[in-house]
Amino acid sequence: MNIGILGGGQLGRMIALAGYPLGLRFRFLDPDPNAPMKRLAEQVIGGYSDVEALRKFADGVDLVTWEFENVPLETVHFLEQRVAVYPPAAALEAGQDRLIEKTFFKTQGVPTTAFLPVESLFDLEDALLRIGFPAVLKTRRMGYDGKGQAVLREKADIRLAWESLGGFPLLLEAFVPFQRELSLIAVRGRDGETAFYPLVENHHRDGVLRLTLAPAPRLSEELQVEAEAHISRVLEALDYVGVLAMEFFEINGKLMANEMAPRVHNSGHWTIECAETSQFENHLRAILGLPLGDTEAVGCAAMVNVIGEVPHLADVLGMPDTHLHLYGKSARPGRKLGHITLRTDSEVVRDTMLLGLAGFLPEGHW
Ligand code: AMP
Repeated sequence: MNIGILGGGQLGRMIALAGYPLGLRFRFLDPDPNAPMKRLAEQVIGGYSDVEALRKFADGVDLVTWEFENVPLETVHFLEQRVAVYPPAAALEAGQDRLIEKTFFKTQGVPTTAFLPVESLFDLEDALLRIGFPAVLKTRRMGYDGKGQAVLREKADIRLAWESLGGFPLLLEAFVPFQRELSLIAVRGRDGETAFYPLVENHHRDGVLRLTLAPAPRLSEELQVEAEAHISRVLEALDYVGVLAMEFFEINGKLMANEMAPRVHNSGHWTIECAETSQFENHLRAILGLPLGDTEAVGCAAMVNVIGEVPHLADVLGMPDTHLHLYGKSARPGRKLGHITLRTDSEVVRDTMLLGLAGFLPEGHW
């Protein structure tokens, strides 16, 4: 089987690495000749709207999937006429636009924070009257890793937020005074079979994921059931196939959906070493119509993103039960270059190991 992947970043790279033991072959489309999937699989170098490149990419592949959600919708529709594409395009549409996404959550009965679309300064002032302070102004599209958003705490913040974001279609959200951020990764097969990984706890800094604790500390059965119920509504409504991630705020013991990613997710990297089947393998199993693998955690893990600079390999690999993944990207401040997963049997040991690892990473890494 030949799988085509739209996007040649680290997520696509890890999908391919999970697929090789299953005898799969990969081709990817990415405009960057130095994409992380370079040398790992065949690459068609071209833009996502380049019809010639798309024809070349689709020719001879059995299935197409994507590794990032900003692939133009028209690209997916073009490919769908030639080859099977999973997950469904509707999931991509919702994943690309925060207004469509939040409206969809609302219609599915998935709790989310109050939100209003903003097209003009007048809209913003009106939305603030209705939503109140503090609030978060976000671009509807192309926002990732905390880019394209501003927190408004008082009237004086309006001008600056408008100067930096005005001109794009925007969304104003009520600020959620959450206790912590959690995410759930689910997988749904072509026959509707679903499986869920345990909820994990995520720590961001400057909008970028730094650390994931898996399973989430103090995870109750009720919270897991609540998260699975929310994501199940989304999976069913979209007739979803593949891995889907949902990010939640936990507030007073309840969950509020922040966003979803119709793809494998950074907060699921721990599954490579610490779940029976990784999110990457399960994504492939799902889109190929194969039985899903067991999603149970086989210990507890901490996943730390390697950002901006790579620590000395010997320092990291000298630690027991530590796994390093580097994506083959050149170092640049703020860039995700790899990740480290610590795997152990107890939360206490994990936390001690994390302290040890912190000594090898730039100060204040998480
Ligand atoms: P996002 O791009 O929506 O994932 O937002 C990036 C980060 O900003 C989230 O992980 C939260 O830490 C924070 N954030 C986003 N939306 C809100 C909100 N409505 N209330 C409080 N914090 C938020």
